[in-house]
Amino acid sequence: MTEPLLVTPTELRQHHYCPRIVFFERCTPVQRRETISMTHGREKHQSELLKERRRTLSRYELTEGERCYDVRLTSQTLGLTGELDLLIVNGTRAFPVEFKHTLGLPDPGHKLQMCAYALLVEAQLNLTCAQGYWHSSRTRQTHVISFDTRLRNRTRAVIQTIRGFIHAERCPPPTSQAIKCIDCELKNFCGDTL
Ligand code: SF4
Repeated sequence: MTEPLLVTPTELRQHHYCPRIVFFERCTPVQRRETISMTHGREKHQSELLKERRRTLSRYELTEGERCYDVRLTSQTLGLTGELDLLIVNGTRAFPVEFKHTLGLPDPGHKLQMCAYALLVEAQLNLTCAQGYWHSSRTRQTHVISFDTRLRNRTRAVIQTIRGFIHAERCPPPTSQAIKCIDCELKNFCGDTL
């Protein structure tokens, strides 16, 4: 029996940015090179995780909870696999936490990524995830992300969309925001964009 095709929460975020990024990485030999800003963001991400170990839970408005780092989760039923930076567990409740090195607010792609982690936590660990926390290491702000029914349904739908085009090896349409293509390291492979 063939294994079900698994996608990652990160791919849900990338798909929101541009569906073709996921297609190129999954279905072609094209290697996406790491840009300077990607390297910088990755390094900041690691240092933020180290600092987190010394902090209290006050920024999450929680008085107690166990921190679990680098939580690897897989659900064949959901078609998802991924590693969560941080999960705070308080009894039967759990709160996924994501760190981003950005000045912006959490966008729909970030919310899809976090909701995918929440679905994984509920499916694999049998805990309840009503909300999670998205923290910007640049603005020092922490945002609550609610995993409501609408976001959950959208997350499940996007998982199926991505699995569909990977399985069919079908190139999805480009982003509708052509400005994203200007500095995209994959633009040489997108013949129908800028
Ligand atoms: S060039 Fe544009 S359409 Fe192609 S992968 Fe990059 S952002 Fe997407």
